[in-house]
Amino acid sequence: MVHIKLIELYIRACFNALVTEYPEVNLYIGGIWRKTADSQPVLNPATQSVIGQVPVATRPELDDALEAAHGGFKAWSAYSPRKRAEILLKAAALMRDRADEIAQAITLEHGKPLSQARLEVIRGCEFFEWDAAEGQRIYGRVIPSEPGIRYVVHHQPIGMVAAFSPWNFPLSQPARKVAGALAAGCSIILKASEETPAGAVHIARALHDAGLPPGVLNLLFGTPPVISEYLIPQKQTRLIAFTGSTAVGKHLTRLAADHMKPVLMELGGHAPVIVCDDVDPVAAAVMSAARKARNAGQVCTSPTRFYVQEAIYGVFARIFAEKARAVVVGDGFDSGTEMGPLANHRRIEAMESLVADARARGARVLAGGERLKRSGYFFPVTVLADVPDAARVMREEPFGPLAVINPVSSIDEAIQKANALPFGLAAYAFTHSASRANQLTEGVEAGNLSINTLEASVAETPFGGVKESGYGREGGTEGLFNYTIVKNISHSMTI
Ligand code: NAD
Repeated sequence: MVHIKLIELYIRACFNALVTEYPEVNLYIGGIWRKTADSQPVLNPATQSVIGQVPVATRPELDDALEAAHGGFKAWSAYSPRKRAEILLKAAALMRDRADEIAQAITLEHGKPLSQARLEVIRGCEFFEWDAAEGQRIYGRVIPSEPGIRYVVHHQPIGMVAAFSPWNFPLSQPARKVAGALAAGCSIILKASEETPAGAVHIARALHDAGLPPGVLNLLFGTPPVISEYLIPQKQTRLIAFTGSTAVGKHLTRLAADHMKPVLMELGGHAPVIVCDDVDPVAAAVMSAARKARNAGQVCTSPTRFYVQEAIYGVFARIFAEKARAVVVGDGFDSGTEMGPLANHRRIEAMESLVADARARGARVLAGGERLKRSGYFFPVTVLADVPDAARVMREEPFGPLAVINPVSSIDEAIQKANALPFGLAAYAFTHSASRANQLTEGVEAGNLSINTLEASVAETPFGGVKESGYGREGGTEGLFNYTIVKNISHSMTI
């Protein structure tokens, strides 16, 4: 018995030793890891304790990254697509081998449950694998014309990409941009999140170990506006790719417009879910509550505004609230945890303020509503019902575990409400009727509509928004084309 206890203690000590090992975060420029004079702390949101330091890049490092990326583009764009794919696939295989180590770092810095962090790593690998394969099929076309002349449409890599990735998916967000840019033959300077830097560090490590030539990927951290405002106007920068809030996206788009640079903008959403009365409300509510808890709702596609037909509204709201209350909230390293803390103090403050405003305007709180009384940024899955359209939560993206459930009398009314906001990223619907599915497909203004599933995108499908949710697509064939330019060759053979 004593022996078993000792073995248990030993295993736990080894596990903790692993868990507390957070990677050293450095800049990666021209194939070399670099430290900086200044750094800032990285916090564990479950404990608010410091787990590491992130470097702060200054002008000399930015200039070195630009020069390296310029050279990297010349070298990488001359590689054959097959050779590029080999390196990207090797990097993905390395990340799969390292998935446990990477997932632990992500849980430490972001708070999400370890199992979700691991799934995120796998998803990031899938982006690399799919883009590596599709990068070999960036076909042009030959346009038939008069005898003696041929028109050829040729896609070329656009050049050096300046990319900015956010904190909500530390590995899969930067993976989207790095995989797309590299598979298309571009070089990239990535400024990843200072709050959750480990995923991007692991991507750079894997690509380095897989033999990526120096300068093709450069990784920076620092003060976001200092970096973006310097990189965007530079002549080497040919495309700006950003994922984050609509406010910052608009600011970067204005900067890019001053220099006539194209942008790829994945911005905020406020996803509507239309629940029609021909489906089982219990099954739809169970799925929806579980999905709301994913990544503590800090997902641009998180289902938020539920418009439920009156006949099934009561049952749907009751089951959703029951399931929301049952979600186990805790430290991402605890095996029973289904939802971790929010990633930073800004999200907790936003949840409190949105709930207070909705409550004051007459909304009913069916589940959650208050932060948990413990250290760390813990907030439960919160369900608000009968929320007036005037409440802030009906137009501000909560970006947290907050769902609103309101009744609607018809599909037309649901579509009108779904489209009422300036956003149009993900939208969802539950129905078994082909004609309703068709009506929703035609009528809902969104870049992604998912019917009877709450998955908004996979590596092989194009993902992105309409209206203020952004421009361009990531993933799928369309995603790779964002990283290319179209060149038309007119070739006369008669001279
Ligand atoms: P924020 O607007 O301050 O920052 C959002 C992201 O943009 C962060 O990663 C930040 O580092 C970066 N950023 C900010 N200013 C920048 C600049 N001048 N140049 C380059 N990058 C810059 O908001 P926040 O508190 O970090 O996040 C909350 C909001 O951001 C949410 O409400 C949500 O709408 C949005 N967000 C969206 C996504 C997404 O996947 N679309 C991801 C994270 C955050």
